[in-house]
Amino acid sequence: MWIDSLGRDELIVEHQRQSANYTALLDAALALNLTRGKPSPEQLDLANGLLSLPGEDYRDPEGTDCRNYGGIKGLPALRAIFGELLHVPTDNIIAAGNASLEIMHDLIVFSLLKGTQDSPRPWSQDPGVKFLCPSPGYDRHFAICEQYGIEMIPVPMREDGPDMHRVAELVASDPSIRGMWAIPNYSNPTGAVYSEDVVRELVSMPAAAPDFRLFWDNAYAVHPLVGEPAPVWDVLGMAAEAGNPDRPYVFASTSKITFAGAGVGFFASSAANLEWYLGLVGKKTIGPDKVNQLRHLKFFGDADGVRAHMERHRELLAPKFRAVIEILEDRLGANKAASWTTPDGGYFISVDVAGGTAKRVIDLAAEAGIALTAAGSAYPYKDDPTDSNIRLAPSYPSLGELRTAMDGVATCIVLAATEKALARHDEG
Ligand code: PMP
Repeated sequence: MWIDSLGRDELIVEHQRQSANYTALLDAALALNLTRGKPSPEQLDLANGLLSLPGEDYRDPEGTDCRNYGGIKGLPALRAIFGELLHVPTDNIIAAGNASLEIMHDLIVFSLLKGTQDSPRPWSQDPGVKFLCPSPGYDRHFAICEQYGIEMIPVPMREDGPDMHRVAELVASDPSIRGMWAIPNYSNPTGAVYSEDVVRELVSMPAAAPDFRLFWDNAYAVHPLVGEPAPVWDVLGMAAEAGNPDRPYVFASTSKITFAGAGVGFFASSAANLEWYLGLVGKKTIGPDKVNQLRHLKFFGDADGVRAHMERHRELLAPKFRAVIEILEDRLGANKAASWTTPDGGYFISVDVAGGTAKRVIDLAAEAGIALTAAGSAYPYKDDPTDSNIRLAPSYPSLGELRTAMDGVATCIVLAATEKALARHDEG
């Protein structure tokens, strides 16, 4: 980093310069928010056609009256569309309520209370339950584990998936590791896409626990930003081929496709896993919101309808991601004050600032009216071991607001790095 080459006097000058920049930022009295990956109002508008669907026609193509109880697996025609997009057979996917996160949560609670369909006993009766957590990762995955006392083991994320050497070694040797989180396409927050080799190894590697599960959260399967969409691997087929048909639990939803608060969640898995899950879920609901599912079915028509809709999202999102990368490059590229990911899809950019300064950057930004995701959020127990990671969520603000916010964030990153260097210099 440029700052490490400066002597004390130069550092003092640099610090004064950056402090002045920061004072100007404070004077701008901003109120901007880059915390969560929420669709912008313009993105939500793309799906406004849903608001007047399904009209008077409340039957699906099978003739089901969607107003009534029942149909716990969801509408077959909608399952077929998302089955195609997720590369799973219609028989192996169910359409549920609005949140895939709820399904993930329930699967963990059911497993703790009852065990999976092939567990020797409920997970909670074993001395300790552990999950592998590729990190940085999705904070809400980690929050479920923390809530229920599941010990989280961080595993480094690489560009093509988690560090497989570490994953394979841990899963093969520790029977208390019952699950692993995975976001195979345009991962939250780095944008990494799992390679075919990584997917094949994950479904075939030996596991010490007989009921080890991959929580395969394909939340961004159809969310490319740049170039051709990344392949969606047939993870269920690959797992079956490898002799582990029950290992993957596949999730997705329309939260970042239609309405984040009123979409449809999906769960795909082996026949045995679905039967087990539906037996349990059938105790908490008589069926999902089929009118909403019908609305989505009529809105999209088919899988190409979803792809075309995602193209419109891309037109809104891609310029925002480009703007963030451009500002990071302009402000921090030459001085190497940070490094960042340049994702080809998904909702986030992951930035690594000078070690030991992420918290300080986030505090400085907050003081200047720019809300960033809390420090450490992308790590189990919110513990970022080097205090360097910041997750940026560019989707919600307007392009103008985003540019202003990012310029401010860059100022905070450089100021925090300068402060740290000066302190280190004075200590040493
Ligand atoms: N999984 C991932 C990886 C996400 O980033 C998000 C939303 N930020 C979700 C799941 C939430 O999905 P849903 O709205 O379907 O609960």
